[in-house]
Amino acid sequence: MKIDLHYIPVRSLVDGYENRGYEGVVGYGGLLDIRPKFQREFIYDIKQRRAVIETILEGFPLNVMYWSLQTDPVSGRTEYELLDGQQRTMSICEFVEGEFSVEIDGYPKNFDNLSIEDQNKILEYKIMIYHCEGGEDEKLRWFEIINIAGETLKAQELRNAIYTGPWLSDAKRYFSRENQAAHLLSRDYVNAGEVDRQALLEKAISWIAGKGDDNIKSYMNEHRLDPNAHALWTYFKNVVDWAKLTFPVKRSYLRSVPWNVLYEQFKDATLDSQALEDRVKTLMSDDEVQKRSGIYTYILTGDERALGLRVFTDNQKRVAYETQNGICPRCGEHFEFEAMDGDHIVPWAKGGKTIQSNCQMLCIRDNRSGS
Ligand SMILES: [Zn+2]
Repeated sequence: MKIDLHYIPVRSLVDGYENRGYEGVVGYGGLLDIRPKFQREFIYDIKQRRAVIETILEGFPLNVMYWSLQTDPVSGRTEYELLDGQQRTMSICEFVEGEFSVEIDGYPKNFDNLSIEDQNKILEYKIMIYHCEGGEDEKLRWFEIINIAGETLKAQELRNAIYTGPWLSDAKRYFSRENQAAHLLSRDYVNAGEVDRQALLEKAISWIAGKGDDNIKSYMNEHRLDPNAHALWTYFKNVVDWAKLTFPVKRSYLRSVPWNVLYEQFKDATLDSQALEDRVKTLMSDDEVQKRSGIYTYILTGDERALGLRVFTDNQKRVAYETQNGICPRCGEHFEFEAMDGDHIVPWAKGGKTIQSNCQMLCIRDNRSGS
């Protein structure tokens, strides 16, 4: 891979700038693809865009940007793809086009309202750009390194940069933006974080492929050239539809439930959603339950650990310890306080509360072996 540094004035960068929406964005006399297919969806807010212009007006350096070079096989013309610096580049072009203003001496000014001196300051400002020449794989590898160094992309945005292809294009039609099918379907049942930054796509893949970077990457790699992402969408939809039918009453806690795990275990079971809802209702008002999102898992699996049940405070345990004189009631031996733990005499499932009169100290071995 060949890399060299160039200084390009804003005047040349904004020449021929055109934002054609989904069709792409070009600049630099039509030779620069400002939003290539592997670039992020995430967009600067107005404060960040203004900061770019203010940096230029102050004459401070902007961080270096990266363009990759390629020669058009037909025309032989050298063209450029923006590897890093998309949001800064778009901010500059949009400002010169008059799409937003900055505040100068307390007044909002767009490009045309600036003094000729300030306009020239912007147009003559030189941006540091590395030109990178290499194959597709090298380019993506380079892109990955730049972004790790800059920490500018979320993990899934980075994966999207690497595993491009028809599968990803289709997956993005469902999962990449708010108000797309997946978000509309799942917003009451799935907390995906920032959909525009690919969090929902990440969640959907982790449901079908397993959690973690390695699982997600190998799934994306395996399906990269698939003609579409129907399998991913269908699986996601099945899981969410099942969750909706099983637990139709909306509560914010629904969004933290690992639905894919429950779906895999119970999709073929016959479940009475009204009876389930009655139990959810009761448990929601149980003061002993600390993790209410775990109620849904507990009701199906019976695993109390999902509920984050209340535990005794150090003071309650200390009082019980002193009352027992440090003797474990199971084995009758004496232990240090640190070698014992608090135990519910009447367990939670039988109505026992986390109160002093229900607290006993057991040695760790007896506590682990259960009652
Ligand atoms: Zn014991």
